Amino acid sequence: MASGSLLIDNARYVITVDAQRRIIRGGSVLVEGGRIRRVGKAAELADARADRVIDGRNFVVTPGFVNGHMHISYAHAVRGIFPDEMASPLLHVFNLQMAMTEEEEYHTSLLCLVELVRNGTVCFLDPGSTKFPDACLQAYADAGIRVVLGECVSDQDAPFTLPRYDTVEAVARTGRFVKAWNGRLDGRIVAWAMPFSPESCSAALIQGSKRVADEHGTGLTLHHGSGAAARAASVARHGHSPTAYLESIGVLGDNVLLAHCLGLDEAEIDCIARTRTAVAMCPSTAAKGGRGVPEHGKMPELLQRGVRIALGCDSPNNSNYLDMVRAMNMAAVQYKDARQDTRMIPAETALEMATRTGAEALGLGADLGSVEVGKKADLVLFDVARPEWQALFNPINNLVYNADGRSIHTVIVDGRVVVDAYRQTFVDEAVLFERVQEIGERLQARTGISFPRSRWPIV
Ligand SMILES: [Zn+2]
Repeated sequence: MASGSLLIDNARYVITVDAQRRIIRGGSVLVEGGRIRRVGKAAELADARADRVIDGRNFVVTPGFVNGHMHISYAHAVRGIFPDEMASPLLHVFNLQMAMTEEEEYHTSLLCLVELVRNGTVCFLDPGSTKFPDACLQAYADAGIRVVLGECVSDQDAPFTLPRYDTVEAVARTGRFVKAWNGRLDGRIVAWAMPFSPESCSAALIQGSKRVADEHGTGLTLHHGSGAAARAASVARHGHSPTAYLESIGVLGDNVLLAHCLGLDEAEIDCIARTRTAVAMCPSTAAKGGRGVPEHGKMPELLQRGVRIALGCDSPNNSNYLDMVRAMNMAAVQYKDARQDTRMIPAETALEMATRTGAEALGLGADLGSVEVGKKADLVLFDVARPEWQALFNPINNLVYNADGRSIHTVIVDGRVVVDAYRQTFVDEAVLFERVQEIGERLQARTGISFPRSRWPIV
């Protein structure tokens, strides 16, 4: 991506998340050729020259956020339609998704990208939900964002409609997808193997998918159910807990990312740590879905064992927000409450998961996740001239506990400014919002999947 040089000059704070976790007061960052060339005190960079200089006095700078589990393709068009009491809308979710046309998916994905970049996400993993990636490629290109993409496959019966193939075809499709997509858009697209889940995929399919990931030096992600019911079902079917089953078929490892991971027992945590498998957790989905974090959430234990955890926002009909700052907040407050212990998930740990550790979980830690010389210039500038940032003594506490994505002023990916003074520049938002509203109305009419719009009378 061609981009000129850029200097962020004298920022209020630069939260580097570097090896020493330095927070530089009055810090400057010089970007050249899409990478970070210099980071330090403003005085140390006084001689730096750049095509564009951003006065940083009212900004707190952080690394761009990495979202480790983010279905982007369909849900914006029907966001909010499911009533609270519906414990799992998944059946409807998949039927709606399967009913989308190429043109509809393009526009809903575009809206998702707008929301993601405006909230500081520079890289996200879409767990195979996009049906028409060719149609969406232009949207990924325009948004300037990094995407970990894959094709969702399954070869077993599932309680909802998934793309299903015979095993050999499913593995072959995965191989073709990874080969065709990995490295596109100047490396901003990374293609992974994405068998949906161990329940909907045979051992042979997951093993074949892992071989594809290994051969291409890329990754594999799976939805990973656990907890007492999932464990009992897995033991009955495979003679192992869900995690031990995956280890027994040889598919865990450092290029594997297990999503959700609620209800792990001690042995499963040990297995994940031992195999250096990574995890993506979606705190707001767990909370909103009533998943019982006090009983089932093991984020502190996984972190304690050195497991790389990425945070995710899951979907506009789960989370429903796509704001990593709110996801950080949820992770930090959820475990304090669940364990009745304020030492759980400090604000700094939440920020690490959204940046450095999340990037490592996606296998992208060499290039992303911190403000360090040599890394890709993916940066978020928070506008601290706002009430929620006052008074400013501890910038990380203010970020995680006071702020949200609405104070994001500028977002930079690969050295290119993709959000400037609160505005993204790749799409007309008013036109897009209207379009997606229409798509949502059409989709509900076509599928018959709709619900009363409120428990209260809309007059
Ligand atoms: Zn998912």
